[in-house]
Amino acid sequence: MTIQHTGQHTLTGIGVSPGLAVGRPVWLRQSAAPAVERRTLQANEVASEVERFRAAVAEAKAQISRIRARVAKEIGEHEAQVFDAHLTFLEDPAYVGEIERKIEADAINAEAACADVTTATREMLQALPDEYLQARADDIRDVGQRLLRCLLGETAAAVAEDETTSVIWVADELMPSDLSALPKNVTGLASVGGSKTAHTAIMARTLGIPAVYGIGDALRDELADSDVVILNGDEGTLQVHPSPEEIAAAEKTVHERSVALERAREIAQRPAVTKDGVRIDVFANVGGPQDFAAALANGADGIGLFRTEFLYLENDHWPTEQEQYEVYRQALEAFGERPVIIRTLDIGGDKSLPYATLPTEENPFLGLRAIRYCLAETEVFRTQLRALLRASAHGTLWIMFPMVETLDELQAAKAWLERCRAELIQEGVAVAERIPVGIMVETPAAAMTADILAQESDFFSIGTNDLTQYTLAADRGNPSVSGLYNPAHPAVLRLIANTCSAAAKAGIPVGMCGEFAGDPVFTELLVGLGLQELSMSASFIPAVKEKVNATEGERARKLAEQALQLGRPEAVEALVKSPR
Ligand code: PEP
Ligand code: MG
Repeated sequence: MTIQHTGQHTLTGIGVSPGLAVGRPVWLRQSAAPAVERRTLQANEVASEVERFRAAVAEAKAQISRIRARVAKEIGEHEAQVFDAHLTFLEDPAYVGEIERKIEADAINAEAACADVTTATREMLQALPDEYLQARADDIRDVGQRLLRCLLGETAAAVAEDETTSVIWVADELMPSDLSALPKNVTGLASVGGSKTAHTAIMARTLGIPAVYGIGDALRDELADSDVVILNGDEGTLQVHPSPEEIAAAEKTVHERSVALERAREIAQRPAVTKDGVRIDVFANVGGPQDFAAALANGADGIGLFRTEFLYLENDHWPTEQEQYEVYRQALEAFGERPVIIRTLDIGGDKSLPYATLPTEENPFLGLRAIRYCLAETEVFRTQLRALLRASAHGTLWIMFPMVETLDELQAAKAWLERCRAELIQEGVAVAERIPVGIMVETPAAAMTADILAQESDFFSIGTNDLTQYTLAADRGNPSVSGLYNPAHPAVLRLIANTCSAAAKAGIPVGMCGEFAGDPVFTELLVGLGLQELSMSASFIPAVKEKVNATEGERARKLAEQALQLGRPEAVEALVKSPR
């Protein structure tokens, strides 16, 4: 839709990620699908063509695994899960098997077979009544294009930009892999299609990049010769041919907002303290050394969750003790006296390792994941524990075990830790004298029996991402049930409250490192429920610290009491947003 102003146009779409951006529009991937030449094969070429195709599949898988790991680390696990669907396609006999069959049966080159099968699969998916499966049509297009590029030996279309000019990326449709490596000078996103729930919309919000989708064909028609555009993600508009005054005003606002953010970051360098003088630790969730600088710049009081699985996911082999030790030591040295909570390997569920012997499970989230896997594969566990213990001499290490739900598991994990400590001491290696050992509370079982688990834990950290899915029986990555998946559900809140009160009785600290902890809308409620530490993606820290500073303990407790009596998550959200 286009609204005519005096000489300028304002295109309207859906504001899928808030914020304002001014920049030069750059069409992304106009040569979307690589050109495909069709060739008939001689009989003696068929076998080598199939081999060539298989090599392209392997290359595409490797590329996607790398992108997945990077997105999980830099944007979030939830956003990264879209790439699991891509990997599944590359293992699906109905897709890759069909391409191979076509190369053989029709004696055509791999590119042509790939293009044909991708189009057919896409059309088939688009025609299905199920919305979730329809959305997979975008995935198959992304996968098909990647396969073609691998076959053609092309890398994905790179947009050459000088690093200083602010650029708005414009596309028919943005794909998750586009956003996985966003150049620094891209300050906004606009697209012809797309919706608020598109994976790339979620990624844009997490990255803090303003985005307007669903602008329609007007975007193609109107943009051609506009040197600068103003994108408003709050209002869902894109202004083309703005006047110099409008550009200046928008640039001023962008500048003011970034100054405000800088200011919030500065304040965030100080501890967050409630109005009645209670300090709440605000920590960062990290996936590896590339995240440490942002955590410190945003004022992290420590690391509340180091997801060590990325070390494993990024590698094509089990990371050695030495490789792990170096990374953990880097984290501990970067944070000095501030605590660094390193979580032991959380693999299984939706995170699979190509080189691990993970069983094929019907319900992987209910299967051999996290601490269960480590207690079954004790050499893997031992290697990590030794690396952690060796690193402990270089800072303030806390060790956290994921998905513990029985005292037996916790005792077994601690026994391995003690065994490794004894080994190292025997070998003359320095190990910190005291390392707090805690657990993630991620299952209803753990939350309900928190009093029992507290007997053997030095601290708790509540993982609401999993706690929510297990409590509400709603898969955290399945868009069809995303309406049910809500950590503000009173059932989840009551489990959080139970965990906090068990921790208080046992006199151990309790924190939270699921996504819920990073939403400033809920900060007061979480403080009222009794959380003493909140851990989140670095970019959320300043806003959460600001909320903590504005919180008054008694009011927060009353708010929590009220919330626990409500019946629906929407009512909880309305309560915490209501002026009080
Ligand atoms: C959680 O479950 O809340 C959590 C922080 O762990 P992850 O997201 O890595 O499963
Ligand atoms: Mg978890």
